[in-house]
Amino acid sequence: MTDYNNYLKSEFNIDGKVLDLVSRAESSLAERFARIDDTTAICQMKVLKAFQDNHINATHFDWSTGYGYDDAGRDAVERVYSSVFGTEAALVRPNIVNGTHAIASTLLGLLRPGDELIEVTGTPYDTLQTVIGRPDGSAANKRGDGSLLGPDDFKGTIRDYGIIYKEVALGGDLDIDLDAIRKAVTPKTRVVAMQRSTGYDWRPAISLESLKKVNELVHGISKDIIVMLDNCYGEFVGTVEPTEFGVDVMAGSLIKNPGGGLALSGGYIVGRADLIEQISYRLTCPGIGAECGLTFGQNRNVLQGLFLAPKVVNAALKGALLAGSVYSMLGFEVMPSADADRSDIIQAIKFGSAERTVAFCQAVQSASPIDSYVSPMPWDMPGYEDQVVMAAGAFVQGSSIELSADAPLREPYIAYFQGGLTYEHSRFGVIKSLDTLYRKGLVTL
Ligand SMILES: *Cc1c(COP(=O)(O)O)cnc(C)c1O
Repeated sequence: MTDYNNYLKSEFNIDGKVLDLVSRAESSLAERFARIDDTTAICQMKVLKAFQDNHINATHFDWSTGYGYDDAGRDAVERVYSSVFGTEAALVRPNIVNGTHAIASTLLGLLRPGDELIEVTGTPYDTLQTVIGRPDGSAANKRGDGSLLGPDDFKGTIRDYGIIYKEVALGGDLDIDLDAIRKAVTPKTRVVAMQRSTGYDWRPAISLESLKKVNELVHGISKDIIVMLDNCYGEFVGTVEPTEFGVDVMAGSLIKNPGGGLALSGGYIVGRADLIEQISYRLTCPGIGAECGLTFGQNRNVLQGLFLAPKVVNAALKGALLAGSVYSMLGFEVMPSADADRSDIIQAIKFGSAERTVAFCQAVQSASPIDSYVSPMPWDMPGYEDQVVMAAGAFVQGSSIELSADAPLREPYIAYFQGGLTYEHSRFGVIKSLDTLYRKGLVTL
């Protein structure tokens, strides 16, 4: 460690006190890191097996043109995803524009007018609220100036289609509230949706055990109710994926965990074959479904990214643990707490001031390989309620499996730190952020 710390002192001008603190935090994490390595080893073999079982070969890197009929590579990618996630079918496409699109296509593909959708992990991620059409009475049902949203704000949303939307808050322990979920389900309930990761919230990611309990409860009430999961940031954090224990359908983004930093774009939806078929008619159109759609030469990147993903998630998880540990040693509240088990790769840190939050994100940007010399500023982003400051000096625009940090500028000023294609880089993100805050007098050491 000494050579490394000396190098950072001389080449990156990092303060010795910062390096001492980070080194101390890191040594306290050795046992946790070893457990993460065990999980990664299993996930890596699971992915390898999926490649082997599906006879992946170099012709799968080719691609077609036009309609994209019989695109062998596209089919291969989707078979590999099905194997990894233990499902009957998958849609994995570069023209799923992001995670929000994957989740929205799932919901809009499965729900019909008069059906009921129940979100059972509290208020969903900001961009999903604009998909649903902001629930009545929620604070999110207002514009920035405080006026209420009108019918024009709901065009094409879930509510615009006459789908009933309900939300069940998390319990006092910030975990799922099984009693409340049981009471909320009605004969009209078609989809029970869960969000695994934190989003811009202050709660731990929902554990696999809790996701499993909801799945058992809901399927115990009726097998016809579809249990759906927003699995963003959760892939390869555990040795089991939620579809393996019976979640019916699950969606996520390829510029997060499963893309392994190599996928240029895209999303995935995995699940029961009948559900995936319905969703495919929404994603393209009825009659066409999953049979068409060009992959634009992305199959090799998508496959290689998936192959590397367990190791990349390993790096991100260790970086998140280090960030949580360092900032909690400094007295900041962190979520999840430094010693908690993890179910996603996000580390939230409550900075309590806009100045600290923005400085933290700017420091992470300055630690990046791309655009390290620019300083991100808070700005209005489509689908988000408040201004957001985002550090993403990434090879792939907006990729948050790469080292990144972001924060909506609202009380109590929480920054979300995630990613790092290598642990060494994620660790440097933590070091650089602390060095910056220290030099600006925003923390004392
Ligand atoms: C990232 C994320 C999404 C999707 O976001 P995109 O930017 O559209 O990919 C959805 N839900 C959660 C919890 C997320 O973290």
